[in-house]
Formats: sequence, structure tokens, C-alpha cells
Amino acid sequence: MQDRRGLLIILSSPSGAGKSTLAKRMREWDPSIVFSVSATTRAPRPGEVDGQDYMFLSETQFKHSVAESEMLEHAHVFGNFYGSPKGPVRDAINSGKDVLFDIDWQGAQQIRNSDLGAHTLSIFLLPPSITELRRRLESRGQDTAETISKRMQKSWDEISHWDGYDFVLVNENLDETEERLKSIVNAARLRRSQQPKLTEHVRKLQDEFERGQE
Ligand code: GDP
Ligand code: ADP
Repeated sequence: MQDRRGLLIILSSPSGAGKSTLAKRMREWDPSIVFSVSATTRAPRPGEVDGQDYMFLSETQFKHSVAESEMLEHAHVFGNFYGSPKGPVRDAINSGKDVLFDIDWQGAQQIRNSDLGAHTLSIFLLPPSITELRRRLESRGQDTAETISKRMQKSWDEISHWDGYDFVLVNENLDETEERLKSIVNAARLRRSQQPKLTEHVRKLQDEFERGQE
């Protein structure tokens, strides 16, 4: 048995609040964290690599995957389909590795309600202000004005689900948010549910204790 069970670390936020940036920093901090590469029907952004940032699928391919039960969760977001393929997640968790998800509230809810729910750690990122959220989306410089305005309109839909998460961070200073995120992950790794060998260890302590009483 593994020393510890892998966590399903879920990061959600309105678009532009900093999920991708923090997900990247977390993987640099601990390269053993497996990033769940989502499948999506949206078009790649400049610089995005198929199979690395997303798996870019046609709508037919996506629907086929869902019909074959290959997705752990899936949702329709901003007019496109997104989903987390099951296989890589199971492989990682079974080998004691954590998996990081950058997904919306619908996906987070589905994973929490799945048979892996007990091993999830969900974190919601809030922007310091709506003005700053827009500034970040604009400064990312990868979306058209129309896409940005669609994402801004939808931002409240996402923010309104902030209270369903285990932890909430206001992502004002990036370095500070990163440090807080690391603390949360480090602590969650020590949850009783993540340490399958504890029962065995406590049994040994009990044997030793009882021998000492004889
Ligand atoms: P960005 O958030 O502006 O970087 O835009 P994206 O197109 O990368 O993502 C749009 C939304 O879809 C974000 O809220 C993502 O968290 C969410 N998303 C990405 N992948 C998945 C997924 O596999 N499942 C679900 N449910 N949501 C996803
Ligand atoms: P998301 O994945 O949530 O859509 P990104 O990680 O792409 O958001 O961040 C959107 C933009 O905001 C990027 O240009 C990123 O560099 C910037 N950003 C992220 N966090 C911060 C922060 N704390 N302060 C300033 N800019 C930030």
C-alpha cells in the first residue's frame, strides 16, 4: 500500500482570477503533482499545446468520450464542452500522487459527489475586485474583446458558488496566494483519510504499549 493516498486538488475561480498561473506554480513547486489535462471543444489559444494544456476535441469526439463514460466530470462552459478524463486521474491517485484540476464549479460539484469525493481538496480563488478581474483578462492578451465580455458577464455565475469550497483565497498578491495554497495542500496531505498506513501504525503502537504494561 502507498504511504499516502493522492488528493484531488480542485482550483476554481471566475475566468482571469489566476487558476492557470497558480496551477503552473504548484507543478513547479512539486513536479510529482499530476495536472489533469482537460478535454475541450474550444479552439486553442496562441501558445497552447494539444495534450499539454488541453486535449482539443471536436464536439463529436467529446460526446463520444462522455457516452463511453471516459470523463470523471464534464460541463458546458462559455458555449464549449469541457471534461476531465478519468484514466489519468485513477492512475495517479492509485500510485499516491496528487492530481490538480483547473475546472469550474459544476465539475467541482460532480467530483465531490463521485466515489473519489472523500479525497478532494477544493479551493476557490476570488479576485481582489471586478475591475482587477477585467484588467487581468485584458492583460492576458489572448482573448478577443467579445470573449472577454462574455467571460465577465459569466463571472458572477462562478463567483456565486464560492461558498461550496473547502478553502477560499483572495488572489491579490500572487506570491502570497501561492504560499497559502502550498500550506493548504501540505495540511490536506496529512488528513487522516489520506494516510492509509495510520491504522497499521496505531496497531503497532498499541501492541508496544500493551507489552509495556505487562
Ligand atoms: P480561462 O479560465 O479564461 O483560462 O478559460 P478556459 O477556456 O481555459 O476555461 C474556461 C472555464 O472552463 C474555466 O472556468 C475552467 O476552469 C473550466 N474548465 C476547464 N477545464 C474543465 C473541465 O475539464 N471540466 C470543467 N467542468 N470545467 C473546466
Ligand atoms: P485563469 O486561469 O483563472 O483564467 P490566469 O492564470 O490566466 O487566470 O490569469 C489571468 C491573468 O492575470 C494572467 O495574465 C496572469 O498573469 C495574471 N495574474 C494572475 N494572478 C495575478 C495576481 N495575483 N496579480 C496580478 N496578475 C495576476
